[in-house]
Amino acid sequence: MTVGIVGAGITGLALSEFCRERGVDTVTFEASSEPGGVIRSTSVDGRVLEHGPQRTRMTDELATLIDACDLRDDLRTADTDLPLYVYADGRLRQVPFSMEGFFRTDLLSATGKLRMLAEPLTDGARDDETAADYFTRKFGAEAYHNMIAPLFGGIYGSDPAEMPGEYALRTVRRMERSGSLVRAAVRRRLEGKERESPISFADGMAQLPQALYERNTDQVHLETPVEGVATAGTGYRLDTADGSHVVDKVVVTARADVSASLLDDVDPESARALRQLYYNPLAYVHLASDADPAGFGYQVRHNESLRTLGVTWNASLFDRDGVYTCFLGGMQAPGLVDRDDDELGRIAREEFETVMGASGEVLNVTRHPRGMPAYDGSWTAMEAVDPPEGITLATNYTGRMGVPARVREAKRLAERFADDGATPTAAVAEA
Ligand SMILES: Cc1cc2nc3c(=O)[nH]c(=O)nc-3n(C[C@H](O)[C@H](O)[C@H](O)COP(=O)(O)OP(=O)(O)OC[C@H]3O[C@@H](n4cnc5c(N)ncnc54)[C@H](O)[C@@H]3O)c2cc1C
Repeated sequence: MTVGIVGAGITGLALSEFCRERGVDTVTFEASSEPGGVIRSTSVDGRVLEHGPQRTRMTDELATLIDACDLRDDLRTADTDLPLYVYADGRLRQVPFSMEGFFRTDLLSATGKLRMLAEPLTDGARDDETAADYFTRKFGAEAYHNMIAPLFGGIYGSDPAEMPGEYALRTVRRMERSGSLVRAAVRRRLEGKERESPISFADGMAQLPQALYERNTDQVHLETPVEGVATAGTGYRLDTADGSHVVDKVVVTARADVSASLLDDVDPESARALRQLYYNPLAYVHLASDADPAGFGYQVRHNESLRTLGVTWNASLFDRDGVYTCFLGGMQAPGLVDRDDDELGRIAREEFETVMGASGEVLNVTRHPRGMPAYDGSWTAMEAVDPPEGITLATNYTGRMGVPARVREAKRLAERFADDGATPTAAVAEA
């Protein structure tokens, strides 16, 4: 069996690696000249800048890949106990991750804390509510505004009031099966499942996809966009400028709009639905600063008078030589991403100086016009997405978004292909 993979981001590369380990043949086509997809790291004057994920979390599956790529010496691990802040009412306030932190934090009033503790008495998620409705009902309005909206919304650059719970709360719903989110969170923490170490690499996050690519260069073709997918016997034909390639199974890891154009011929209905999915645009401004705080960084509460959504303190997390990454845009201000570099740099720098009380110098501006899957109302279109047998859509709009989840899905797929198990073939058939 040969699996054709569209895209050499972390999902495609991890899938290629896990399949090879299991004796399943793959061929991967990547449109860009670089592997890694949204994971991209560069160096400016010796400073590592992250243009996609700023960090990820260590999991068993990631550890397997890190060992396979011999990257242990380059692994950078941040302290899990570093504080995370929300900027609210004009200053940084620490997010509690322990009972002691909960009682100490000034992010919530005494009444707000008592209301949060009533969570086990509230009902579970309902199909017709938004993420905002749900969290407000569970934890109270104050906890929602001061803590949950900036943190949960911050993951996607979305407004939880625009996120239907049915799609946005899948993980939470799983946690809820034990009856209470607070109890589930405490249990996860006791089991060591929560707050796994934040990790990166000496040269940045892109070291992992680069190393995976180097282990799989025979199977991964860069600068070779797939232009179309067609049926071919019991399998599929992937058309590229280099020719057509017949495979038994196809895994598409590209963004929803790209997946749509590839599925147009084989599954027009799914293609139509995929075109409706909305992504939040994001801009990153990298700053250099002598501010020397310890922590993950901060998210900004939604009703503050700042346009910055949040800032990662790369300097503190991974000793990145004074680097801070500011996020702007998202669902709150999508148009901001269209401003020129000077203006975005100025906004990020001035607001950073207001919050941190230290000056910053703009190093770089990066834009993601279609950045984060928004998990907003457009996600109802997913009901109509049902690709034909043999085609799997596997990326951050079909499942969980974080790198650990992408790698986990890649492993599960590789196991499935290995179980499906037809005898591996020697090479990809050229049609
Ligand atoms: C801005 C941003 C910040 C994030 N921050 C974090 C974070 O801090 N921590 C974390 O764990 N996760 C984070 N995530 C989530 C995580 O990084 C992504 O979900 C994950 O990297 C996506 O990997 P992927 O391989 O599924 O998709 P992608 O990385 O999108 O890869 C898809 C690949 O397909 C290629 N492609 C497109 N069209 C074609 C074509 N026609 N033919 C062939 N190839 C094609 C693309 O060039 C790309 O390389 C972030 C995501 C984004 C967008």
